[in-house]
Amino acid sequence: MKALVFSKALYSTWVYYAPDRILFDCGEGVSTALENRVFAIKHVFLSHGHADHISGLMGLINIRNNAMGDHEKELRVYYPAGSPFVSELIRYFARTNRNLQYDLEWIPLQAGDRVVLLEGRMPRYIEAFGTVHARGEPSLGYNVCEVRRRLREPFRDLPQEEIVALVQAGKKDEISEEYTQILFSYGGDSVPLNPDAVRGTEVLLHEATFLADADRKEYKHATVWEAIEVAQKAGVEKELIIFHLSSRYRGDLAGLAREIEKKGLPFKVRLIPPGELVEIE
Ligand SMILES: [Zn+2]
Ligand SMILES: [Zn+2]
Repeated sequence: MKALVFSKALYSTWVYYAPDRILFDCGEGVSTALENRVFAIKHVFLSHGHADHISGLMGLINIRNNAMGDHEKELRVYYPAGSPFVSELIRYFARTNRNLQYDLEWIPLQAGDRVVLLEGRMPRYIEAFGTVHARGEPSLGYNVCEVRRRLREPFRDLPQEEIVALVQAGKKDEISEEYTQILFSYGGDSVPLNPDAVRGTEVLLHEATFLADADRKEYKHATVWEAIEVAQKAGVEKELIIFHLSSRYRGDLAGLAREIEKKGLPFKVRLIPPGELVEIE
């Protein structure tokens, strides 16, 4: 299992990304669904401070303290710097959880900030990017990035033994280069994302609260067709996952999936039905 996604606009949104033990957003019900896996979470990245994205924090922080499990593991919660709602919540937890058995750290982030997940030969980090959602409530999206190495263009078709010989001759940097692959992008709540922020990502989670522009009263969220356009412009490699759909569309999703199918897109499109827990392989 790569990820678990739960999202229903207005009620609750959270995404558990298993490879790096990250929880993106923390809507209500997350601990009930994850059960013992709450102890596996190392990092929580909040996209913004609206209740449907942070209302599970009270449960998560307390269950990790009281349930049977590993109490030593620290928990780091990252959030957009200056979020008024998250700041209030931090004060609340400081007053009510004086006896936590693990370290709980709150870390404010700005667009462009990086958080190291893994060091070593193929380092991995999170990069925060700016999104546009609600006035007065700063919001961020997050890319899971991996630093890789590949052969430079003129050397890609060389036979293996010649490459080995060049490396042995100390020419590794001449024939190969480092590049960064975005593995997973979580946009949080936003109007259509800037495609440059998620360019070339393997998997893009883009919100779409509405099917049609006519249903949208304020310009704070995206539509399904806008999300698809962003994914096309960004050159998504594998899959577009559309979440944060309003429950009013529950009956329309099969027809919508057929309409999307007809477009013959170069990536898979998955719609997260509002209120259903979906496992991503
Ligand atoms: Zn929101
Ligand atoms: Zn929301």
